[in-house]
Amino acid sequence: MLKTVHIQPNINTPSTHKVLIIYTGGTLGMTYDKKQRNLVPFAFEQILRKVPELRDLACELTVVSFEKLIDSSNMKPEIWIQLAELIGQYYEEYDGFVILHGTDTMAHSASALSFLLEGLRKPVIFTGAQLPISALRTDARRNLLTSIEIAIAKQGENALVPEVAIFFNDVLLRGNRTRKIESSHFDAFHSENYPELAKVGIHIQYNHKAIHEPNALDFLKVHTKMDNQVAILKIFPGMNERVMRGFLEIEGLRGIVLETFGSGNAPTDKWFIKAIQDIVERKIWVYNVSQCIGGLVMQGRYATSQAFADLGVVSGKDITTEAAIAKLMFLLAQDLPETQTKLRLAHSLRGEMS
Ligand code: ASP
Repeated sequence: MLKTVHIQPNINTPSTHKVLIIYTGGTLGMTYDKKQRNLVPFAFEQILRKVPELRDLACELTVVSFEKLIDSSNMKPEIWIQLAELIGQYYEEYDGFVILHGTDTMAHSASALSFLLEGLRKPVIFTGAQLPISALRTDARRNLLTSIEIAIAKQGENALVPEVAIFFNDVLLRGNRTRKIESSHFDAFHSENYPELAKVGIHIQYNHKAIHEPNALDFLKVHTKMDNQVAILKIFPGMNERVMRGFLEIEGLRGIVLETFGSGNAPTDKWFIKAIQDIVERKIWVYNVSQCIGGLVMQGRYATSQAFADLGVVSGKDITTEAAIAKLMFLLAQDLPETQTKLRLAHSLRGEMS
């Protein structure tokens, strides 16, 4: 069930654009409950009281609020699909979309949506806040207002940012290149392997070269399937053979994002290589991503990654773990022939890898 609020701009501000805001939960929309003595989600119908400036934007807003607001730790593929379907449903009616989301798993959700929304030509901007909108020093107000400005920014007829992005603390980043790197300071997100799409000061400075350019023939295709028979395995010095072999016992497992050292390296112990071989032979995809924030996986560069290249492990190059796990869920749900899955894992689908 969804609740909807319409916000008309002040009469003296001519409204030429329409934005759909989808409120899922997270810190941004929390308020302090004196009785409960903790932070609870506030009813989004009261948004105008908290951010009266919303009426000054030259833009008509519709806020769709999830009835059950969630901390983004409870995000899951069913909700990503629901979000993608909502955007599909209202795609023609609105110029852009803003998704209010908790910061903890925002990078996962932005990655997932980038895959589910193929041929996107309009902005889908994720934002949230480190401090609730009711807090004195909140970052919620400016994150929200600027996200809306970005969602309506145009170049002629076309959207300036026709892709899924995260706007936070004055930077706009490609959603599937972003990681949450900070839980205390306002600069919560970072994209090490891809440049910022825009920087906000007095003006919004768009980095046009980095922004996705849609093909004239692109039309939106909303995918509505994800397969979560996947796992992330982060290797570490001293890892126990039984932990590794435990993955072979998981019934129905179809893919593993293997977080390796440096440029894709791992131990050369016989038991480790045998376990990888058994996993690959079991037709479980192994997608090699680096534990480093920057740089890329280069299988075969060191002897410690040669076995991966020989065994058919797929290199994720400079993809983030967040994007890699979402991509696996998305691709496995397509049930493509093996060669096609491999090709898509190895190459960029939505600008998630170089
Ligand atoms: N735990 C919260 C969430 O991700 C944190 C936040 O919103 O920033 O929903």
